[in-house]
Amino acid sequence: MAEKVIIIGSGPAGLTAGIYTARANLSHILFEGFQFGGIPGGQLMTTGIIENFPGFKEGVPGQQLMAEMREQAQRVGTKLIMDDIDEVMLNQHPFKVITSNGETYEAECLIIATGAVARRLPLESEKKYWGRGISACAVCDGALPIFRNKPLAVIGGGDSAVEEATHLTHFGSKVYLIHRRNELRASNIMRKRAQTHPKIEILWNKTVEAFLGNEMLTGIRLQDTVSGEILTIDVAGAFEAIGHQPNTAFLRGQLSTDENGYIITKAGTTETSVECVFAAGDVQDSRFRQAVTAAGSGCMAALQAEWRLQRKCG
Ligand code: FAD
Ligand code: NAP
Repeated sequence: MAEKVIIIGSGPAGLTAGIYTARANLSHILFEGFQFGGIPGGQLMTTGIIENFPGFKEGVPGQQLMAEMREQAQRVGTKLIMDDIDEVMLNQHPFKVITSNGETYEAECLIIATGAVARRLPLESEKKYWGRGISACAVCDGALPIFRNKPLAVIGGGDSAVEEATHLTHFGSKVYLIHRRNELRASNIMRKRAQTHPKIEILWNKTVEAFLGNEMLTGIRLQDTVSGEILTIDVAGAFEAIGHQPNTAFLRGQLSTDENGYIITKAGTTETSVECVFAAGDVQDSRFRQAVTAAGSGCMAALQAEWRLQRKCG
């Protein structure tokens, strides 16, 4: 028997969709994931205190926030299965969803909430100092006391890198923007912002050789791609902004995505290119990428699924 709704992903978007779907009394299953594209609970499981999720005036550890969302979903009746989805079949109705164990489930509506993963530099020293001065989210971590009035660095040359660098100027004593080429990929207005900001210094044609430090990050060793020169800069924080990878490979091209693989949703909705398939959270959002926006769009997807099911899908 087909479920009314299957939700894929257990980050803030998926669990919020679960809570709303359960409270709408629709039969549903939420696949939490296991090891594809992150871990059950999503990206917030990999960070410390979340200071910008409303409702927690002292902040809340990411793992606690996700554990509580999960318990809330279970309490209102969401059925959770800890497995990855390997394949979906969207060319038939009800839709088929196949797990990594080869089990097949069917649903009238799908909510895709599989998030995205930040690209990271493939360096041993990066793993060592991840969470000890290295982050991939300035909006999330930039205000931490360890970064206050200290030199900081952002790696990357796109809009995100400039946005992160600009954000960090509120906290750091100065911000190095480390880019591997001699021209920013960022849009004109953002380029100008980076090049004219008194606290931002752009280090052109530089690649990261190693992150340095003791217990915590204290510096970065760079190589100039033109002269080959090696130089070291002192920084208390390094923010990687080298792009994100949305978790859409399992869709195998059955939904429209942009050139970076993000699912395209109709403006102001969670509707995808296939009727009765909705997308929520970072998997369809290359811009805001915040827990609260992911949760908000999870709510939208569940409500849209509920409304759509009042007419027959397929
Ligand atoms: P995710 O949290 O990415 O969850 C995706 C889910 O999908 C996971 O459960 C994963 O297991 C599952 N999944 C993936 N592929 C499959 C598959 N094939 N089958 C089944 N399941 C699958 N935001 C803030 O607002 N404040 C912060 O302080 C903050 N700090 C952050 C710190 C770090 C280090 C990072 C990386 C991000 C941070 N963010 C923060 C951003 C925030 O985590 C994301 O915006 C948010 O988690 C997106 O939620 P989501 O539900 O869309 O996806
Ligand atoms: P992006 O545009 O893909 O830029 C990634 C940057 O990281 C590029 O400069 C790239 O260098 C660099 N990079 C990639 N891999 C690297 C590596 N291994 N080592 C060193 N550098 C590496 O990603 P993004 O900046 O996250 O932007 C994603 C999308 O969101 C874009 O469409 C962007 O316009 C949009 N966005 C818009 C805004 C805004 O309008 N305010 C804000 C944020 C994001 P190269 O340039 O050499 O390839």
